[in-house]
Amino acid sequence: TRILGFESSCDETGVALIEVEGGRPPRLLAQALHSQIAMHQAYGGVVPELASRDHVRRVLPLTREVMAQAGLALSDVDLIAYTQGPGLAGALLVGAGVAVSLAAALEVPALPIHHLEGHLLSPFLSADAPEFPFVALLVSGGHTQLMRVSDVGLYEILGETIDDAAGEAFDKSAKLLGLPYPGGPHLARLAEFGNPQAYALPRPLLHSGKPDFSFAGLKTAVLTQVKKLGDAPCDQAKADLAASTQAAIVEVLVKKSLLALKESGLRRLVVAGGVGANAQLREQLNAVCARRGVRVHYPELSLCTDNGAMIAMAAALRVQRGMAKPRRDGGFEVRPRWDLSAA
Ligand code: ATP
Ligand code: MG
Ligand code: FE
Repeated sequence: TRILGFESSCDETGVALIEVEGGRPPRLLAQALHSQIAMHQAYGGVVPELASRDHVRRVLPLTREVMAQAGLALSDVDLIAYTQGPGLAGALLVGAGVAVSLAAALEVPALPIHHLEGHLLSPFLSADAPEFPFVALLVSGGHTQLMRVSDVGLYEILGETIDDAAGEAFDKSAKLLGLPYPGGPHLARLAEFGNPQAYALPRPLLHSGKPDFSFAGLKTAVLTQVKKLGDAPCDQAKADLAASTQAAIVEVLVKKSLLALKESGLRRLVVAGGVGANAQLREQLNAVCARRGVRVHYPELSLCTDNGAMIAMAAALRVQRGMAKPRRDGGFEVRPRWDLSAA
């Protein structure tokens, strides 16, 4: 079975082709991605209407690119998967509309996929795929959750953020430091030159005893420090503040992951979502998990943020397990808000 997957929930247009043969690990045949980051940067964040229009422009050329890379024709595709939600309604509608129309034209079924399931299962695109069950730390731009993952489709939320997501905390703090959008990777780069102990920033809920998170207070604390630095802060002070901010976020993510591992009795951790690309997070998780005999799996760096491959992979794993309930009637809906435990 060859599955063509589409991602368009936010500011990346992603298309990928995956092949499923029996029980063997699904194989990524080709993928293409266009990020709209440069387009949105002037506005300091994603402009939904611009995002939708750009998905319209990109999706078919990317699809052609994927088919050319794979050396296959659209008539070789057996199933079309697309991100149904959560995300920006207009952006989702473009990917879903194209996917369902293409499926109708090719007379193949269309399968809606939950975007966060895509993130969660993205480490299955690596050669060293995790085994079920595992604890998942999902840290993206819009979500921060710890989950118990028993199998594909069996997701139990152990804890989540009560306000901002970890990626949001990175991005908002970075913006206060005058860094471009999305600030996470920029803040991480600046932090390399700073002292993580220079500023004592809050770690809300660190000792709550539950795998929950709160990051809203952090950006307020960063704002207070930025104001103290005045109009022309020196580079070292900015780097110190960046390093201290990153240290605060990473410490909470690491401690809460350990708590979830302990509570669940599991010895495997999967980290997914954009913040999973953060080098400090990886380094510290690797260290504490090695001491406890816990295996940690990450997606490839380039697959931490949004992409089509993770959507095609989620579809592939569902197809392999006989869980896919694709539609053939040309109908579809998007779900801008959609709880993963209900997927
Ligand atoms: P969601 O998946 O919750 O709908 P999203 O799709 O916007 O949100 P992702 O694409 O998974 O989120 O991740 C984007 C986020 O990851 C941004 O907040 C970005 O700043 C952050 N990010 C990416 N790389 C890094 C890094 N190296 N360090 C810290 N944060 C990072
Ligand atoms: Mg994005
Ligand atoms: Fe995402």
